[in-house]
Amino acid sequence: MRYFLVLICCSTWALSTANDDLTSTPRIIIVGAGSSGIAAASKLFENGFTNVKVLEAENRIGGRIHSDYLVDMGAQWVDGEKDNVAFELAWPLGLIERFNENNNFTIEYCGSSRSPLSEKILEGLNDIQATLDDFHNIDLSNLKSGSLGEFIDAKFNENFKNEPEMNASLQKSLLNMLNLMKMASDGANSWYDLSAKKLRDYPDCEGDSVINWKNRTYSTILDVLMKKIPNPEDELPVLNNTNTNSKVIKINYNGDSAPVKISTADEKEYLADHVIFTSSLGVLKANHEQLFDPPLPEKKISTIKNLGFGHSAKIWLYYDNPWWYSDENKQINGKVLFWTEDDRKKIENIPEKKWILGIAGFFPVEHRPKTLCIWMASNHSIEMESIPEDMMRNEIVELMNKFFGHEYNITEPTEIKRTLWNTNENFRGIYSYHGLQTDATNINNADLAEPIMQNDKPILQFAGEATSEHYGTVNGAIESGWREANRLINLYANKTLLKN
Ligand SMILES: Cc1cc2nc3c(=O)[nH]c(=O)nc-3n(C[C@H](O)[C@H](O)[C@H](O)COP(=O)(O)OP(=O)(O)OC[C@H]3O[C@@H](n4cnc5c(N)ncnc54)[C@H](O)[C@@H]3O)c2cc1C
Repeated sequence: MRYFLVLICCSTWALSTANDDLTSTPRIIIVGAGSSGIAAASKLFENGFTNVKVLEAENRIGGRIHSDYLVDMGAQWVDGEKDNVAFELAWPLGLIERFNENNNFTIEYCGSSRSPLSEKILEGLNDIQATLDDFHNIDLSNLKSGSLGEFIDAKFNENFKNEPEMNASLQKSLLNMLNLMKMASDGANSWYDLSAKKLRDYPDCEGDSVINWKNRTYSTILDVLMKKIPNPEDELPVLNNTNTNSKVIKINYNGDSAPVKISTADEKEYLADHVIFTSSLGVLKANHEQLFDPPLPEKKISTIKNLGFGHSAKIWLYYDNPWWYSDENKQINGKVLFWTEDDRKKIENIPEKKWILGIAGFFPVEHRPKTLCIWMASNHSIEMESIPEDMMRNEIVELMNKFFGHEYNITEPTEIKRTLWNTNENFRGIYSYHGLQTDATNINNADLAEPIMQNDKPILQFAGEATSEHYGTVNGAIESGWREANRLINLYANKTLLKN
């Protein structure tokens, strides 16, 4: 309650004098209305701050949470339970469901030659999958490069050293498949770029890692953050204070008239006492030089350069009449693709076709019985985004026929939706990862979170998934938004106490 004492309502955003007096309402600008920005704004309004404005470049809120056609183009699952703020927000409201409570999901490995893999090989692959699924307490002391790829190569050789069926060509083909599958969730171009140590030390939230939103989508969390759910009457004034189509092009944090001046592409200017910057690491990598005046400190720039920012994609296939149910009405299992080396080479040389080599597999979707989701990985997912839609559709149908047309009567999808995260200049990829360079330079997400101070006050703060120890997740993004809101709540709370 004490925060209310310090907040004197001041609604004007016109240029005005600097707000050094901490007893008046601080002007706070949040750049980006993704989950971290919405979380920060909600927390500030909840604690009595009134002069908060969110500037968002897109024409919608949510950022990398985005549902289109009732499917999630970005974040889809709540990733764990313990210490997961998204789980803690949604579970008590009955909004989400543990995957394993209602599903019996298995993976089928499908080859371009259609030859099935032997039981022995399946066993070895499943063992590698199990290691990847629980990558903690692993001894990595023998690694030279330190990459996950190096670790898995060794594990693969160990698993198959006495297996007569395994030859160099099949080994290459299966390693490629495992790599794509893993990178579809971890985001690096290849597991030879990904730090095994950082992956091992990632603070996973224990519990189910694929908790779904039933008939809803992940964007429901935004309404929970803004308190529209469970009771619409309690909704915080976040949307009323969010300007969409407001792309920030310059942040001057050395100004005379206020600690920070923010300019947008539509030629508006805002003055602020504090800015919370939440755009993706991809945006920071591409634009930090143009965005910030003066340039960011060296340590911050080095962190931006040395954290990895990944690329992957999803393609949603919707069917009026799904073809994958057999007579017994059995649901399709996840189908993961592997190419023979000969087949791969043929495609690699066709520029408009090679993007399909980035397809990791086809997966059924919880609560969407007429929908299949294609997961893509690697830089091929960037190529996919510029393929004309008709061509993409034809290639996908041809691909499905090649790999499993002998088992199903595959038909044309009624509708196709693809993600465009990699080429959209407001995202420039999917999420951050720790690469070999991150490891070598001893950089951490906390370095990105470090605020820029002026007179002992944070004037330029950083939030977003890449600033969180739970990087790459919505829960990490929310935590980071709350962290920066709390930084201000604590700052003004202490000043009030001093004044009192
Ligand atoms: C394909 C995909 C699948 C995913 N799956 C999961 C999952 O299953 N579970 C999970 O927990 N997480 C998942 N994630 C990760 C999760 O979506 C992100 O970690 C999280 O949404 C990031 O939120 P954020 O607020 O940090 O960034 P963003 O959501 O990117 O928000 C930043 C906002 O800043 C805006 N912006 C950028 N530049 C400017 C500018 N110059 N001016 C103004 N605004 C600007 C952007 O438009 C954006 O709205 C997935 C992400 C993707 C892409």
